[in-house]
Amino acid sequence: MSMKPIDQSVFRFVPCATCDTDCLCGDQERALRHITGGTWPHGPMTPEQRQWCIEEADRAAEGALKASELDLLPDADLARSVLFAWADYARSQGLL
Ligand SMILES: [Zn+2]
Repeated sequence: MSMKPIDQSVFRFVPCATCDTDCLCGDQERALRHITGGTWPHGPMTPEQRQWCIEEADRAAEGALKASELDLLPDADLARSVLFAWADYARSQGLL
């Protein structure tokens, strides 16, 4: 379980890839979409960013994703795992 507040992003701000105006995506969500899509302008993820993704995917997937397996994924796949875990979590909570 990550104890970091959700609004404390380990990613730098980037403009949203999917919203035209009035973007309500969080900093992390924006960054993950760019990393997944190959449009992230800040190079490979840092060890801190990868660690955040691993912890977040593990937390949101409620144990379905193993940190040891996530650690082997390339940046884009790791970022995608977090987005999928979030979507699954939202579905499981009846939020989607
Ligand atoms: Zn957005």
